[in-house]
Amino acid sequence: MGEPSRRLPVTLAPLTDELLSSWIGRHAEFYAVPPLAMLRHCLPEASSVRTADLDLNEDQVFRLARMFSADPTTVCRRTFANIAQSSRRLIAKEPVQSCSCCHPPKHEPRPVLRSQLLGWRITCTLCGCLLRHSGRHDRHSPFGRYHGTSLIGERLLDDEAERNVRTWTSPAEIARLLLMRRGTRPISRGYEPWRFRVLGAIIPDLDDVVERGSLPTPASPILPLHLRPALLAGVAIVERAGPEMLEMLRGQMMGANKARFSGAIDEIMTHTCRSMASSQLQLI
Ligand SMILES: [Zn+2]
Repeated sequence: MGEPSRRLPVTLAPLTDELLSSWIGRHAEFYAVPPLAMLRHCLPEASSVRTADLDLNEDQVFRLARMFSADPTTVCRRTFANIAQSSRRLIAKEPVQSCSCCHPPKHEPRPVLRSQLLGWRITCTLCGCLLRHSGRHDRHSPFGRYHGTSLIGERLLDDEAERNVRTWTSPAEIARLLLMRRGTRPISRGYEPWRFRVLGAIIPDLDDVVERGSLPTPASPILPLHLRPALLAGVAIVERAGPEMLEMLRGQMMGANKARFSGAIDEIMTHTCRSMASSQLQLI
């Protein structure tokens, strides 16, 4: 346990939605020490500042709160500790987006807001405006006409990630399945397996607009903002249509990926049947 003397003599107020590592970083700047040294001032066991954003136990939250003379809830709210395991792969490693209304450009050092790392969002968690890419030219999304449906998908993914609320299945798992390649091998001349994803069977314009570098990989599963509305709309459409839609999509798959997709949806169906059976029992 840290000593009471670990309290900082001067503390800086956290900004709205500021990420814990950013708050630590601003104190580090103030005290002219590296951010990790700042964190280790009260958590000598910490391996990196990013781990503080992702995983802190109750005692560590308490010690950090004491260092900043803050409430433990204030510290916890700035982390991703509440994010469901199924959604954690959609947390970016660095800021990928920002809201031009809520992100003060003149603040130095520039704070990082928690919502800048949420790979399932297209709108700002604070004001609802559309997010913009950080540090890159904004690209116009060709999926504007799906906007209303995308917002439904965003809410489904957000409910699961932030509040652990699911519908008949995990929206994050639907998102993962929708980004699978329909086939792994070229079936004809000019067929590029990387281009044709399950999602393209629901949002047909996707196949034509994607570029190789813009599609996610297992190592980097976050879609760029201009393509994200298509994925969110796809999640909303599958969620609304129900498990039968997954069966229909199975028919779009080829080769080894058909087997992988089938295995994943069989798993989903088993859980869905089980939870439907238990809710029917509750009704009796
Ligand atoms: Zn905003």
